Amino acid sequence: MKAIDKLRANFPILFQEVNDEPLIYLDNAATTQKPKQVLEVLNQYYQQDNANVHRGVHTLGERATTAYEASREKVRQFINAHSTKEILFTRGTTTSLNWVARSFGDQFVEDGDEIVISYMEHHSNIVPWQQIAKRKGAILKYIELTDEGELDMQDARQKITPKTKIVSLTHSSNVLGVTNPIKELAQLAHEVGAIMVADGAQAVPHMPVDVQELDVDFYAFSGHKMCGPTGIGVLYGKQSWLEKIEPIEFGGEMIDFVYDQESTWAELPYKFEAGTPNIAGAIGLGAAIDYLTALDMSQIHAYEQAIVEYVLPKLQAIEGVTVYGPSTTANHTAVLSFNIDGVHPHDVATAMDMQGVAVRAGHHCAQPLLRYLDVSATARASFYFYNTLEEVDKFIDAVIATKEFFSHGII
Ligand code: PMP
Repeated sequence: MKAIDKLRANFPILFQEVNDEPLIYLDNAATTQKPKQVLEVLNQYYQQDNANVHRGVHTLGERATTAYEASREKVRQFINAHSTKEILFTRGTTTSLNWVARSFGDQFVEDGDEIVISYMEHHSNIVPWQQIAKRKGAILKYIELTDEGELDMQDARQKITPKTKIVSLTHSSNVLGVTNPIKELAQLAHEVGAIMVADGAQAVPHMPVDVQELDVDFYAFSGHKMCGPTGIGVLYGKQSWLEKIEPIEFGGEMIDFVYDQESTWAELPYKFEAGTPNIAGAIGLGAAIDYLTALDMSQIHAYEQAIVEYVLPKLQAIEGVTVYGPSTTANHTAVLSFNIDGVHPHDVATAMDMQGVAVRAGHHCAQPLLRYLDVSATARASFYFYNTLEEVDKFIDAVIATKEFFSHGII
């Protein structure tokens, strides 16, 4: 058995036929599949340990709390945060970014301040900032992209000025597949006294990430894009900021004392986690981190780099196919957005699905980017470490067959 076959055997969902063809799952940027190891941990938790956390002194309560807090420690190690006080469990990247925008934004953004994002952001790193900018009279600025679909660093240097309060950028794009130099951008932000927020939804699952090395103030990501369950995510925040900012949700768990008219907050990280958290989700995320760590994030990154080096030139070589994002693989994750001339991307995705290949079509929650690229939608294939080079070949064949079908009517 080849190593990849052994690894794929952990993902039962991959072994099925779709439209009478073997499934080739290439929608990993939307969500990834879950290995048995994660499913078993979830099952075991609900079958043997289920209880509320941080409350009961009974045995199950202790077990659930221990497992929940052990997951927080796993997250801490995984992104090399300084302390578990800096790891907040959220519902996902969207919630994490909303928390920063609401909390930091309400307290520190003032009339005339500037918030700098870019044209390659996901809606969840645009709309929360629009809202805070509207409420506070701040100005939302967009860093331009180069013709290659990379962040224009010259423009970044011009847009990040002493008026900037917040710089919030994606670490890796969910459409262009480009990875941004977050460390350098954090330096630019800090030089002018701004904070650096990064959206790590498409980076943490695919490469080693060290938040101290990047020197980001806040960093957001989702469990379901890294082999974990849905409904769980992380907001990392530097302890000094988390101590200064106010929670945005209030209720049980996040308090220290509650008086008739006033309350005081619990210590970090509990101050931000109001109510019963997604206990099973956090424990499942911990299991996903164990799984990824055993595989080794550097190896995962190297493997996906090999995939992109293999697939990108093949896709580029198909006449009548436009590929968006960098034309070279140096800074390229295994996310490829493309269009076939004269064929609507929804038709591309439907024709590919008929061949068993799951790709996404649409605006990928990045309407300003698609407007910037002057396209209304794209098809997107996104790979993960369980995809094989044989699957890449079948994907390329399916793109060619789809193109032929729409020009001649045959698949
Ligand atoms: N940012 C990026 C770059 C993403 O790809 C996604 C998910 N498509 C999100 C944010 C939002 O993540 P979630 O839906 O898990 O909150």
